[in-house]
Amino acid sequence: MCRGYPLRLESIEAKVLHNRTNIIKGILLCSKCKRWYPIINGIPRMLPDEFREDYGHFIKDLPKAIYKKYKFNRKFFTKFTS
Ligand SMILES: [Zn+2]
Repeated sequence: MCRGYPLRLESIEAKVLHNRTNIIKGILLCSKCKRWYPIINGIPRMLPDEFREDYGHFIKDLPKAIYKKYKFNRKFFTKFTS
C-alpha cells in the first residue's frame, strides 16, 4: 500500500517548533493508486482500507481550494495536477 512511492503532501495547518515545521493538519496523496490519507492532530492516518475510518467530516472541512484541486471522495481523489 503506497510503499516506496513518493506521496504528495498538502499542508492545511502547520506549526514551527524548534526550527522544525510540524504539519498539524494536512493530506497525503498517492498519485499511483489515487488514495488520500488525512493528517489529524499531527498524526498521519494511513491504515489499510479495511481499517480505514470514514473521514467524511474531514473532507467537509477542507479548504475549498484544496477540495477543488483534487476532488475527494471517501477513499480516492479524482484529479491530480502537478
Ligand atoms: Zn498508493
